[in-house]
Formats: sequence, C-alpha cells, structure tokens
Amino acid sequence: MRIIIVGAGPAGVTAAETLRTFDRAAEVVMLSAEPYPPYSPPAMADHFLTGSTSHLWRADDWPKRFGVEYRMGVAVAGLEAESHRLRTQAGELLEYDKLVIATGSRLYAPLEGNDLPGIYNFKSLTAAEELVGRVRSGEARTALIVGAGFIGVEIAVLLRKLGLEVTMLEMLGQVMPRVLDPETAGYVEGVLRGMGVELRLGAKGKSFIGNGRADGVLIEDGETLHADVLIASTGVRPNIDWLEGSGLEVGWGVRVDDRLRTTAPDVFASGDVVEAADRLTGERSVNAIFPNAVAQGTVVGLNLAGHEVRTEGTDRMNSLKHLGVPVVVAGLKDGDEVLRRRRNGGMRTLFLKDGRLVGFQMVGEVAAAGVFRSLMNRRQDVRAFKDRLLQPTFGQGTVAWGAISGKM
Ligand SMILES: Cc1cc2nc3c(=O)[nH]c(=O)nc-3n(C[C@H](O)[C@H](O)[C@H](O)COP(=O)(O)OP(=O)(O)OC[C@H]3O[C@@H](n4cnc5c(N)ncnc54)[C@H](O)[C@@H]3O)c2cc1C
Repeated sequence: MRIIIVGAGPAGVTAAETLRTFDRAAEVVMLSAEPYPPYSPPAMADHFLTGSTSHLWRADDWPKRFGVEYRMGVAVAGLEAESHRLRTQAGELLEYDKLVIATGSRLYAPLEGNDLPGIYNFKSLTAAEELVGRVRSGEARTALIVGAGFIGVEIAVLLRKLGLEVTMLEMLGQVMPRVLDPETAGYVEGVLRGMGVELRLGAKGKSFIGNGRADGVLIEDGETLHADVLIASTGVRPNIDWLEGSGLEVGWGVRVDDRLRTTAPDVFASGDVVEAADRLTGERSVNAIFPNAVAQGTVVGLNLAGHEVRTEGTDRMNSLKHLGVPVVVAGLKDGDEVLRRRRNGGMRTLFLKDGRLVGFQMVGEVAAAGVFRSLMNRRQDVRAFKDRLLQPTFGQGTVAWGAISGKM
C-alpha cells in the first residue's frame, strides 16, 4: 500500500508517526512545498531568539527512523481523486492508494497592494527566514505589523526582542479580538506597551503603498504610516486552492466526517486545512491551532492503520509564551455568567453557560488550565462548586478533583 501525505507540519508528521506505530509495511511518502525538514511553526519565534533548533526540527534522521520517503521542495498542484493521482507543480504524476491532505493554511491579507514586493509574513519558515534575514541585515529599524491576532502579537514580541521599533495596527478595538475577552486583551495590551510596542487599535489598514515596493500602509481614516519592514498578519485561510477541480467537497476548508475522511474515497485530511465540527458548539469551522493538528493527525494515522477512530471535534485554545507572563485561553469568550478574579497581577476569568464551563482565560497563574479544560470538555455541571473555581489553589490536586467528585 502506498500512502502519500501532502504537508510536513504537525498534522502530516503526526499522521505518519501514528501510522508507523501500527504499520511498518506501508510505503509512506511525505511531500513538502518548503525546502526544510518537518518543523513546528509555534517553535519558530524561539528558534530565531535562541538559535536553537531542538523543538523546531524533527531530527535529521526522522524520515529514516519512521521509514518515510521525505521529498522537500515538492509542491502539489492538483488532485485527480478518481484515478488516485496527484500532480506536482513540476508536472510529475504520483499515484497513491491512500492520501492525507495536510497542507495547512496560508496568509490571508485582504488589503489593496498586497502583491507589492516588500510585504513580509511569519506564516511559514520560508517567510519567517526572509523577514528575520531582513531584520538581521541591519537595514531595518522600524516595523509595522498589520493585524494583532496571536501571530501578530508573537511577531511584535520577537521583533522588539530583536531591537526594532514596532507599531501594530488592529482594525478592532483590542488585541487578539477573536480569542480574548476585552479585560484579558487589556492586560496583554499593557504588557505589549510596557515592552515598547506601539498599538494603534481601531485603525483599519486599507492598502499597502509604495513605488514598486511597499513602504507604508494607508489607514482607512486617510493617515499613512511608514516603516522599514511591513508585515501582514491579517489572518489565515486553508491551503485548498490546489484542490480546485478535484471534486472534493470544500467549504472554508476541506470537509471531513468524524473519521476525517473527505468526500473522495481513500482521501483523509487533517490540521489547519480541515473544516470540522467545533467540540463546544458543533458548528463547522477551521480551528487552526497546533493541538487540533496533532489530535487530527493521530486520528488519521490510526484510521490509515485500519482502526476505526472518530474525533470528538476541534478545540479552541491559545497560549502566549513570550510575553514574560503566561496567558492561556480556551473555549468561548462569553457566557451567561462571568466569574473573574484578579490576584498577584494576574487574572482568571471563567465563562459559564447553563451552569457549565464554556470558556476560560488565565493570565499569570495558569496551572489549573488542564483541569478547566477537562471540566469544559466533559460538560461538567459546575454550579455546586463554582465559587471554588476562582480559588488560586483550584486545579492543584485534591481541591479540584475533590470538588468534581462531590467529596468536598
Ligand atoms: C508563528 C506561528 C505561531 C503559532 N503559535 C501557535 C501556538 O502557540 N499554539 C498553537 O496552538 N498554534 C500555533 N500556531 C498554529 C499552528 O502552527 C498550526 O495550527 C499548525 O502548524 C497546523 O499544522 P498543519 O500541519 O495543519 O499545517 P502547517 O504547519 O501549516 O503545515 C503545512 C505543510 O504543508 C505544506 N504545503 C502547503 N501547501 C502545499 C502544497 N501545495 N504541496 C506540498 N506541500 C504543501 C507546507 O510546506 C507545510 O509543510 C502558530 C502558527 C504560526 C504561524
């Protein structure tokens, strides 16, 4: 059996590793458009700050250890699902018995002038190398980042640490508007400002401008901002363009069932490229985060190996690692009841709906995040002990589990 995995991010790599745990015989080919061994995007900032590759790369002998024929720099351009064939950009035709689509997501920058040279992003190692190369060349002293989602915040912190003056534009009134509630966002904004990042909130970038090369951004109110490097971090979209004409059902991302099978026979999909049911709401969406990519890669690997495994839906979860204070958020950012407690400069906010935890945001003390996540995913009724949820010790050993099991 010949299995082709397209994409060498966390979803593709986890699928390959899981499959190999159960099946040493299948021929496994992994294709990556990029000229690198498999890597993990969340580790890129650390890599550029410390020079360490330990979490960035799978070890050089990864393909050999897992019996994978790894072909880097091979971009796939088309899928002929009926004849079980892939077409690469170079025109090569590759036959498969089973296929895994794990092509992740790409930058989405809906500003005019977004095709001008000189607009950088941090969405892949290839793109990040270009940006950091420009910064390290010493030519750049100022940076303007359009979009204050979690990748934008990560870039802002990295570039400040690399010595640049950084301004961040965000069209909505707070940073990370999709995932943070306004209070937690206010906290993160305070930390960013304390680091010297200039935040321009409620300022919508209309177009990148420049004569042959981008050197500024025009804001909707008519103001123009200039910087030595311009970075777009305005959102992501699943990498599905290459599936056009394949007959595969796609919406926002590739449509899959709860075993992560696509609508074409013998074709699975996992990671940022997938549109799947949200664990909390049941709505189909793309929750483009690392834990979902790994969880889905595992399910695909098991199903390829002949096990019948279903997913429980995708999670919403984010963490910020480089602010100097940990921030962990998960689930929804509102509910019919909000519990909040500030302590030691940190903050814990819980969102309840019908007596159940549907989301939480933690700044500073984050040790209880795992317990909260478990309560949330189990849809546990927390009314009987909800006041204890805010205690600093909740989540540490017996306090949480005693409460949950009714022994307190
Ligand atoms: C800077 C940054 C920081 C992040 N930090 C966090 C974090 O802290 N926590 C978190 O949960 N998530 C984080 N994420 C998101 C997380 O990295 C993604 O959810 C995860 O990488 C998705 O894995 P994936 O394998 O689906 O896709 P990707 O990691 O995007 O991998 C896709 C792979 O497909 C390849 N590919 C794409 N198109 C083609 C093609 N046509 N042909 C061949 N190969 C192709 C690419 O080269 C790549 O190898 C971060 C993302 C970025 C960019």
